[in-house]
Amino acid sequence: MDPTALMKVSNLVKYYGDVHAVDGVSFSVPTSEVFTLLGPNGAGKTTTLEILEGIREADSGEIEIFGQRLRRIDRATKQRIGVLLQEGNFEPYLRVREVLTLFGSFFRSSRSPADMLHEIALEEKANAFVKTLSGGQKQRLAIGVALINDPELVFLDEPTTGLDPQARHNIWSIVSRLTASGKTIILTTHYMDEAETLSQRVCIMDHGKVIAQGSPRELTAQLGQDTIVEFVAPEDANLPDSLSACCEIVRGEGGLVSVKTNDLVAALGRLVDWSRSSGVPLAEMTVRQPNLEDVFLSLTGRRLRT
Ligand code: ATP
Repeated sequence: MDPTALMKVSNLVKYYGDVHAVDGVSFSVPTSEVFTLLGPNGAGKTTTLEILEGIREADSGEIEIFGQRLRRIDRATKQRIGVLLQEGNFEPYLRVREVLTLFGSFFRSSRSPADMLHEIALEEKANAFVKTLSGGQKQRLAIGVALINDPELVFLDEPTTGLDPQARHNIWSIVSRLTASGKTIILTTHYMDEAETLSQRVCIMDHGKVIAQGSPRELTAQLGQDTIVEFVAPEDANLPDSLSACCEIVRGEGGLVSVKTNDLVAALGRLVDWSRSSGVPLAEMTVRQPNLEDVFLSLTGRRLRT
């Protein structure tokens, strides 16, 4: 195993009848980094995570974790990992501190609830009932529960889905602090900005398979020196042939037109000429570098969030 890897997964397979949920997945997770499984709904991220958390058993494949090769995650390993589940519902009439105390009691050693309340910035809510917490506060509590045994490796399954921007940023800060303190994080998300901001390494999944992996920079570099020009146009507007001759054009939902070009000046010139002659404005136009969403699009022809 790569000496810097905390976990290595080889050829993991899990089928549900005809559904190939996880179909030969392999990757290594470096120590003290955020490793992200990025992919659309149904890509197999949660199933992969659940196998690595010891919640499900794989049909086949190998897992090496903390230097040990295991067929299935055992009890001793579970003491060293933390898990944030996608559906983390706590008893509504427990108080925040009681939840942390309860979950801490499940482990041989655990951090003090006071310590944890500080880390997840919920000190003011220590005596509040769970049912009175906001969505972001509930998610911070769930992360506190995942960290209560002071794990070396933390699994966060879609930690910010459904949260508002401020609550998402609060969770991002907690994740950054965790890696700074030496923890290793395995995250799943279908938000490409989350993967790009938080991760040192990203594994893009689709239909149960890994279709690309590397650092966000390495992955976007695969698209070469291209620049993306995006604007909104009526869905029935005919784009000029001169543009499709030099650029890759993808038309998305809501009239979004995405033009990938390695000659920005030429592409902009043709677009402006076309806009003038056709009278179609280049509404909400942006010019940007490729991101992980573009990587996914170029590999699959689909957007991450459909
Ligand atoms: P999401 O982002 O929606 O959580 P995901 O990438 O985590 O998606 P999984 O939840 O792992 O994807 O699901 C992968 C595939 O396996 C999907 O087609 C799903 O319907 C199927 N699947 C997952 N769990 C089961 C199960 N218990 N029984 C049958 N099929 C399942």
